[in-house]
Amino acid sequence: SRDFDDDNDPGRVRVAVRLRPRNAEDLSEADFADCVELHPELKRLKLRKNNWNSESYRFDEVFTETASQKRVYEVVAKPVVESVLSGYNGTVMAYGQTGTGKTFTLGKLGKDDASERGIMVRAVEDIVANISLASDTVEVSYLQLYMESIQDLLAPEKTNIPINEDPKTGEVSLPGAVTVKVRDLDHFLQLLQIGEANRHAANTKLNTESSRSHAILMVYIRRSVPEIVEDDINSQNMKAKGNFPLVRKSKLLIVDLAGSERLDKSGSEGILLEEAKFINLSLTSLGKCINALAENSPHVPTRDSKLTRLLRDSFGGSARTSLIITIGPSSRHHSETTSTIMFGQRAM
Ligand code: ADP
Ligand code: MG
Repeated sequence: SRDFDDDNDPGRVRVAVRLRPRNAEDLSEADFADCVELHPELKRLKLRKNNWNSESYRFDEVFTETASQKRVYEVVAKPVVESVLSGYNGTVMAYGQTGTGKTFTLGKLGKDDASERGIMVRAVEDIVANISLASDTVEVSYLQLYMESIQDLLAPEKTNIPINEDPKTGEVSLPGAVTVKVRDLDHFLQLLQIGEANRHAANTKLNTESSRSHAILMVYIRRSVPEIVEDDINSQNMKAKGNFPLVRKSKLLIVDLAGSERLDKSGSEGILLEEAKFINLSLTSLGKCINALAENSPHVPTRDSKLTRLLRDSFGGSARTSLIITIGPSSRHHSETTSTIMFGQRAM
């Protein structure tokens, strides 16, 4: 069966759809009509095409507006985190129109209410709880990718950070970005908060919307091997540190993608054609890679954008990838919702 934690075809991108609850704006519409109908027990979503027709789509999971943050984490992200803990790389991404819940799903801090915590916090909490901080380390980088330029959200003066790819191992790294060793969950919450503040400040200065950039959390894990040696499938991922002990490295990427709405039609207000082109470039190129993985194509075109170059060693192959597509209920956004669903279907 197709599921998030099945072990067949680890390189397949698993896709969940999550519906945001109606907000005040949705409810104030005179002729409010939902444009989708969810059937979570069938893992299906019905999209209204017009008054008479609808089309049904299947996903690996369908979350209604009442799905909790905990449940979304457990279904979508936990299998990726577990795989990362055993030495593989992995990625969790959210794709959707601005305002549909990408940041809520991934980046919510839940300062006042821990039940609202999103995937970034829960993933690091899980990782810290499952390793031994005496012998293992967890480090994070937090970045923003805007117009094909990478900026460090933990050290915002660092911009235009180059991506390095080891020609032998294929390992992708960002030697110019700050990595911070995480001491505990509170420390991580502080780092996320600093990153959010820097993201906001940087975008205010540039007079841009954060919805037009991708936010990328990278979590690097190094574990000493003796306690996890029973699983040696991934031995190429082990590196000798001196002679002994062996250290196994893996990483988790959590990516809050730029809003998927087409910028060219979202109004004339200051949106540069260049900008639209660049943002579309990374999302378009991501779509092509997802497609290639779904078709088991031997060539996944990861070279076309910075986003896909960054994902290169954490996407497909032995890496586990989950994609959450977020949608709103209102028929007002029918065309954006349709294109989001089509993007998700490219992986299925
Ligand atoms: P995006 O990052 O896709 O632009 P946000 O995550 O900022 O969207 O969500 C837009 C608004 O909707 C926020 O106020 C957020 O708190 C709220 N929201 C989104 N998803 C949910 C949800 N599942 N439950 C409750 N509120 C939500
Ligand atoms: Mg957001």
